[in-house]
Amino acid sequence: MTAAITIRDVEAAARVLRGRADATPLVPSLWDGADLWLKLEICQPIGAFKLRGALNAVEGVEAEGVVCCSTGNHGRGVAWAARAAGKRAVICMSSLVPQAKVEGIRALGADVRIVGTSQDDAQAEADRLVEAEGLADISPFDDPLVIAGQGTIGAEIMAQKPGVETLLVPLSGGGLAAGVALAAKAADPQVRVIGVSMDRGAAMAASLSAGHPVQVGEYASLADSLGGGIGLRNRLSFPMCRDLLDDVVQVTEDEVYRAMQAHYWTDRLVAEGASAVGLAALMAGKVHVSGPVATILTGRNVDMAQFTDVVAGRDVVLGDVIVKGIAHGT
Ligand SMILES: *Cc1c(COP(=O)(O)O)cnc(C)c1O
Repeated sequence: MTAAITIRDVEAAARVLRGRADATPLVPSLWDGADLWLKLEICQPIGAFKLRGALNAVEGVEAEGVVCCSTGNHGRGVAWAARAAGKRAVICMSSLVPQAKVEGIRALGADVRIVGTSQDDAQAEADRLVEAEGLADISPFDDPLVIAGQGTIGAEIMAQKPGVETLLVPLSGGGLAAGVALAAKAADPQVRVIGVSMDRGAAMAASLSAGHPVQVGEYASLADSLGGGIGLRNRLSFPMCRDLLDDVVQVTEDEVYRAMQAHYWTDRLVAEGASAVGLAALMAGKVHVSGPVATILTGRNVDMAQFTDVVAGRDVVLGDVIVKGIAHGT
């Protein structure tokens, strides 16, 4: 099954992206706990890596419009790519998606639908629009062109930092991790690729443990971009993550909070919670490294009120839980 996508597909995606989602910098982190390198996908025009998969997928669409469900960044990527291609875009999201992400998508001219309280609810609306209006659905993670597009990040990291030992990849539906692991291991079969999720509502982690796709609850999280299921009929990202990831680790909200602070105060970078899970795993001692390690700063599309609370060490309310304030450096 894994053979469904190969490094040739990643190379083809790189040609589609050229001049539109250019190679991002890989910079050393100033955090001194490891030889850590940061792949700055926060520099993409939409503030997140999802532009890569979206551009590659929209390029392959013949319908005059596209539809997708999203936790925010995929929708923004699809909206951007559709506008560039002169196509209509409808983005379906649940009420868990932060307002800042919704506004970013509206600003690109996409039609936004807020439905239900989970990614599954949003996907159901997308399915309905495929039937009713003939739009082409672009899955955020379970689509060969999306996975190949995200895989270009892995190819770039290996070219920018040959000899990197470990890659820490934020993990939700697994399109990113699947593509990155495929491309990185094609360049260097020795490289270790570890997926990192939050501890509550991590659908891929639960599915890999169970040996098949399972459903989990969906919770508010600092890593809001990592929420949502992987689809019970997952075709590609689940088997690829199962076959290509060396390990999956999970981090707590406190650990994400501290890592967001560290990226800000130490690296002077704005990382949304989903971006900070790689550093969170290192800081918490959940991953041990001896050589160079890279992580992907996947997005910077934070809610600014929440972000300023985190960097100032104040309490953050997430649905029914409160993450107690933690003074930076303590
Ligand atoms: C979508 C997303 C991820 C996870 O990508 P998957 O392919 O769903 O695993 C990580 N970080 C950010 C910022 C995202 O938007």
